Amino acid sequence: MSKTIGFIGLGIMGKPMARNLINAGYPLVVYNRTASKAEELVAMGARQANSPQAVAQDSEIIITMVSDSPEVEQVILGSSGVIFGAKPGSIVVDMSSISPIVTQRIAAELAKKNVAMLDAPVSGGEIGAVQGTLSIMAGGDEAIFNEVKPVLETMGKSVVRVGSVGAGGVAKLSNQIIVAAALQGISEALVLAQKAGVDLSLVYEAIKGGMAGGRTLDMKTPKIMARNFDPGFKIDLHIKDLKNALQAGKALGVPLPTTGLIHELFSACSAQGNGQKDHSVVFTLIEQMAGIAG
Ligand code: NAP
Repeated sequence: MSKTIGFIGLGIMGKPMARNLINAGYPLVVYNRTASKAEELVAMGARQANSPQAVAQDSEIIITMVSDSPEVEQVILGSSGVIFGAKPGSIVVDMSSISPIVTQRIAAELAKKNVAMLDAPVSGGEIGAVQGTLSIMAGGDEAIFNEVKPVLETMGKSVVRVGSVGAGGVAKLSNQIIVAAALQGISEALVLAQKAGVDLSLVYEAIKGGMAGGRTLDMKTPKIMARNFDPGFKIDLHIKDLKNALQAGKALGVPLPTTGLIHELFSACSAQGNGQKDHSVVFTLIEQMAGIAG
């Protein structure tokens, strides 16, 4: 008999991840702040609970997939939070991208109730969530990781334990620095080609097999060329990740100059009212800086 999984947070990522768990045969109890987003999963056989606490009461493994550190704290430690329902011996797996320091604080609170915690943030975007091909970077006790690994493997094709609790979040911050730098470079390169009057689709065709090629180029260039900035990955969430990376850099004494600059450029996109658009919307900011109307 499969373990019952609780799933909290059915946004762009959480809903398809939960769908893959149902398709793999796991009994699922779900909660989303906006209850209507659970309808599709309920139709597939999930049971809807009315609070994170109620999810935890009925689950052995509780997954959270919300926005940032305060939201994870709220659904786990807040009123009607997971901590008030979780049974001793159950496991909380936070798959959101949050501050590793906050992760460790939450894990310490859960440990007082004999509830274990893994942090297991993901990379691979909405497509990876839909296809079950995410890269999952986990932190936590090795035995707990081994227990949860088969569950994670229904959502990801790469599931790696990188260290103790919080280490998954550190790996994710590293990932987000690299993706931000790639996206910024891609945006500048495409605006340069555009202003030079060179066909962007041919530039992409010409460079994608060379050193500049890669997943960010492949995932984002077609969207940029189609001027489709629907998320995907909201730029406000990427700003949050870069903020968390800069905070970690400060705490550890690691200067992150490029991360700081890109944080400001992405923040300018948000200030222009584009915070809920895909992070590739930074392309339009570079267009404006280049005097292209867009
Ligand atoms: P999203 O579509 O904005 O969904 C956010 C989810 O969090 C929604 O279910 C939302 O509920 C819930 N939430 C927010 N604040 C809450 C609160 N105070 N209490 C309870 N629930 C709350 O975001 P997403 O793209 O799925 O991202 C989720 C996490 O995955 C983030 O940490 C993000 O950085 C990370 N991530 C995203 C991607 C990507 O490509 N999208 C890739 C890798 C990692 P409502 O429906 O009620 O708003």
